[in-house]
Amino acid sequence: MDLALQAQIPVNRYRPSSPLRVTLQSIEQLTTPGGPNDVRHLVLRWQPGEFDWREGQSVGIVAPGLNAKGRPHPVRLFSIASARDGEDGDGTSLALTVKRFYWTNPDTGEVIPGLCSNYLCDAQAGDQMWMTGPVGREMVPLDWAAPMLLIATGTGIAPFRAFLQQRARLSPAERGQCLLVFGAQTADDLSYRAWMDDLCATDPQLQVVYARSREEKTADGRRMYVQDRLRDHGASAWSLLQDPRAEVYLCGLKGMEDGIDAALADIAAQQSGDWPELRQRLRDEHRLRIEVY
Ligand code: NAP
Repeated sequence: MDLALQAQIPVNRYRPSSPLRVTLQSIEQLTTPGGPNDVRHLVLRWQPGEFDWREGQSVGIVAPGLNAKGRPHPVRLFSIASARDGEDGDGTSLALTVKRFYWTNPDTGEVIPGLCSNYLCDAQAGDQMWMTGPVGREMVPLDWAAPMLLIATGTGIAPFRAFLQQRARLSPAERGQCLLVFGAQTADDLSYRAWMDDLCATDPQLQVVYARSREEKTADGRRMYVQDRLRDHGASAWSLLQDPRAEVYLCGLKGMEDGIDAALADIAAQQSGDWPELRQRLRDEHRLRIEVY
């Protein structure tokens, strides 16, 4: 990773004090209505020239209204799920992948809807919203020809949708090998699966594998997680990581890093490799990128 190039990626064109007015072009529920999880795909639109970004960056959304102290609500960040040309190829729209979130008050046990995720999931096409950003440089790929190992849990798939969209817009010679390991609770929660499977059919360098934690079990009876599925594909993952340009991206739930780390240590042992040594090299060369919440 070239740090000088990374530093040139533009950020913060729109700050909370001067956000961009955008229009919700469409909203679609990705999960089955009435199911345990509610994940939505939103497309936001603006005027030509008002906004640009790179794959792996995020935007902020400001929910309307004021908080208990009479101040505007804080910005909530969401990964941009679209490649730089946007949803229609003209750079004037981007998609977000938003899960309706609830939290439980530890003192009272009361279940409280998350402000911004519920605002977005309840929004209607045509609504006007305030957007900030783009933010973040850490997850932005600079070398599309480098082999990539991508690992996502849940809505952590959002930036990788942008990656795969960008790959699809490049020629085969411009893109490298890519293995995406994507974990969710059920098949219903595997957002964008049909689209990703179609991409694999036309891109022999791309492989996407899935872990359905509430529908599949490991051989020893545990929930099937991304780290378990990664072990199943250990030989190809390890071979991909031998390329000195190879990059590893993790996105999703905080805590997933430990399981992935242990899986890569097991895989290395099976392949007569040295994971701590490779992990250090990946870190030193900024080829190990992690975004977990
Ligand atoms: P989720 O549905 O709670 O979990 C996704 C999958 O990960 C489930 O199969 C879950 O299994 C599994 N899992 C749980 N603990 C794990 C662990 N330690 N290691 C590996 N897998 C594990 O996920 P979510 O609610 O969509 O949350 C995704 C996270 O991504 C959130 O923290 C979100 O903030 C973050 N994120 C979101 C965006 C965005 O733009 N929306 C972007 C980047 C990151 P079980 O539930 O069956 O145990």
